[in-house]
Amino acid sequence: MDMLTAFDSSASKFPTKNVLVTGDGESLTYENLVDLSRRAATAFAAAGVGEGDRVALMCYNTTGFVIAVLGAWRVGATIVPINHKLAPPEVAQIIGHSGSSLVVIDGSLHACVEGIDIATMTTDTPVPGTPHLEEAIAAAEPLAVSDQAHLDDNSIAEILYTSGTTGLPKGCVHTHRTVTLTAMTAVIGLSMTRDERLLMSVPIWHASPLNNWLLGTLYVGGTVVLEREYHPVAFLKTAAAQRITLCFGPPVIYTTALNSVPDFADYDLSSARAWLYGGGPIGPEVAQRLAAGYRSDNFFQVYGMTETGPVGSVLYPDEQVSKAGSIGRVGLPGVDVRVVTANGEQAYVNQVGEIWIRSATTMIGYLDDPEATRAAIDTDGWYHTGDLARVDDDGYLFIVDRTKDMIITGGENVYSKEVEDALTAHPAIADAAVVGRPHPEWGQTVIAHIVRIDGRDEVPDDLKDFLGDRLARYKIPREFHVAQSLPRTPTGKIQKHLINRSELPAAELSTTA
Ligand code: ATP
Ligand code: MG
Repeated sequence: MDMLTAFDSSASKFPTKNVLVTGDGESLTYENLVDLSRRAATAFAAAGVGEGDRVALMCYNTTGFVIAVLGAWRVGATIVPINHKLAPPEVAQIIGHSGSSLVVIDGSLHACVEGIDIATMTTDTPVPGTPHLEEAIAAAEPLAVSDQAHLDDNSIAEILYTSGTTGLPKGCVHTHRTVTLTAMTAVIGLSMTRDERLLMSVPIWHASPLNNWLLGTLYVGGTVVLEREYHPVAFLKTAAAQRITLCFGPPVIYTTALNSVPDFADYDLSSARAWLYGGGPIGPEVAQRLAAGYRSDNFFQVYGMTETGPVGSVLYPDEQVSKAGSIGRVGLPGVDVRVVTANGEQAYVNQVGEIWIRSATTMIGYLDDPEATRAAIDTDGWYHTGDLARVDDDGYLFIVDRTKDMIITGGENVYSKEVEDALTAHPAIADAAVVGRPHPEWGQTVIAHIVRIDGRDEVPDDLKDFLGDRLARYKIPREFHVAQSLPRTPTGKIQKHLINRSELPAAELSTTA
């Protein structure tokens, strides 16, 4: 079944129930959303969008975004959600690569697409002289069901771009089948029901917010509470006022709220039955602090990637403290996760290997890149994630690095993340990136880029001794560069390919052999 039919089916069961509620008090029922998305479909068709066309969407968490997704599907188009924090050249690259013929963009972001030759429709904030989605909807008749495109399992629902941590973002092609199964995996994995009240306060265009949580909630007939953007006070106010049951985001949304809102304890968060976090691990102290602060035994960690829908493994609430830092032992229902060594064998205890995931939610491939697709998904359907993990005695997976970031020096493997963790444990260091530089004798040497907390540009005097107490000699960087900042994706991941390629605003201050 396609995801649009799944949504329409929920709407026929719960027509008068609220499907979207915003932190500002706007609300739409299921029948409202059906009607508005049919009108949006008419507006899109009038703009020349038809079956197989691609509609780029660059929005905050607004009702307009959800209306546009469903409207585009009604005319048989594919959605291309774009990170609203990207810079104009990055947006142009994705619009060009995806072959989008229309972009629906929040009016406040309109400057991002001004130089691009593409039909544009603003949403939310109007821009004079540019067609406006909400106005077009008000003027349009709802598209008749008989005029809707015929969708099936294999219709392309989305082209979702990866974060661009290791290179240019890659366009993952998801069908209505993989998208619907991703929504269903969340539903089954978290036992979601029509009583779900999901808080969406992280960017909605990301794979997990979009496919697991927005679409999962629409699938069961629940309610999605939209916060336009994350703000710690608004997050807590809305969570309490809307009696939310489920929330997903990176760990930082939970820690920021806890650390920065003085009257945190006054917010009644007792309705929440699951706080989900993903994108990165949390240590045991943070796990304990969150559980105490939120008065909740219901923190879950999820691990996955855009390519797999993004489902993967899960670390359950009762494992949060005893296995803190792990991404879990098992995959979500229907999802197989294994760790495989370089010679293709299952890793044994404490060995490091690449994480492979097999799931019916996996993309059908990278857009226009059969070679990269073949390299990523093997003939047995396993997606090779490019993440390296170690398995502990109890079978729990701990991520050690990305394959691309592992450094081989003199035949020894050095996991950049381990060295970065040792560097940032130093009291003067705020941030660190460790990369390999080609070396004629050693293969590669270990190079560290550091950012100091106090902004000074000297390497701390005691740094080498500090590392010597923590790391084997071959892991200690041969060079240290002090930078003012490190290049990061808009979601906060360090972009090492940029560090390798370009000169950072850094002073080369210490070179030691
Ligand atoms: P690109 O593929 O363009 O280099 P990316 O891999 O960062 O970028 P995403 O698909 O957004 O793009 O992110 C998936 C990656 O994020 C995973 O492969 C993994 O490295 C990391 N990740 C996701 N969840 C977790 C988690 N719970 N713990 C640690 N790392 C995680
Ligand atoms: Mg990736």
